[in-house]
Amino acid sequence: MSIVIAVDGPAAAGKGTLVKRLEEHFKLSKLDTGLLYRATGWKVLADGGDPEDAEVAEAAARALDPAELSNPDLRTDEAAQAASKVSAVPGVRAALLDFQRDFAQKPPHLADGSPAHGAILDGRDIGTTVCPSADVKLFVTASTEIRAKRRFKELQDRGLDAIYARVLEDMKERDERDSSRSASPLVAASDALLLDTSDMDAEQAYAAALDFINSKNLF
Ligand code: C5P
Repeated sequence: MSIVIAVDGPAAAGKGTLVKRLEEHFKLSKLDTGLLYRATGWKVLADGGDPEDAEVAEAAARALDPAELSNPDLRTDEAAQAASKVSAVPGVRAALLDFQRDFAQKPPHLADGSPAHGAILDGRDIGTTVCPSADVKLFVTASTEIRAKRRFKELQDRGLDAIYARVLEDMKERDERDSSRSASPLVAASDALLLDTSDMDAEQAYAAALDFINSKNLF
């Protein structure tokens, strides 16, 4: 049986680390759905367009080639802000929906060529809109200040110039846009395990997620 794990939550809440560990432990294929929105926003910027222009943004989403998802520029905060803008456009969300659902239903083989036991998707609306019948739903969050501190440290570790106040401001702006949009806003599914990682380290978050998943006897 192919299982689906949905992981949602705001930026820098600890989703990435947790998803990587679950992916490896349960031998799942992973889709970081934020990359789809980042690639769409980046494409609009590269063409000199405005990410808030609905028509331009939807055309970029429809023309998206999965090969574009490996562009390292998508990791920048500029791409994140553009992603957050294009992701509020309902036509963009609709254009990216089939790709995400196909991935969840028919997860690609793992890097070593073996079949995956299922799919793990992380984003903002996986448990609510993309895969509402996912076997497991996790909603990973943390206070805004803690998330901004984590992001600030990550930028510093990557040798990038960062100002904490600016990182915090960007985080608040993106949270506000993601939570208040009418199309698939960032909200926890009612049947999701809520994991507030503000006072947890990566190990504790992983242990809590594992307990929850194992309690469902899926594997
Ligand atoms: O997760 P990541 O930070 O890469 O996401 C970038 C932006 O893409 C988010 O701020 C959000 O606006 C958008 N996004 C979304 N729905 C998803 C994943 C990401 O709206 N499923």
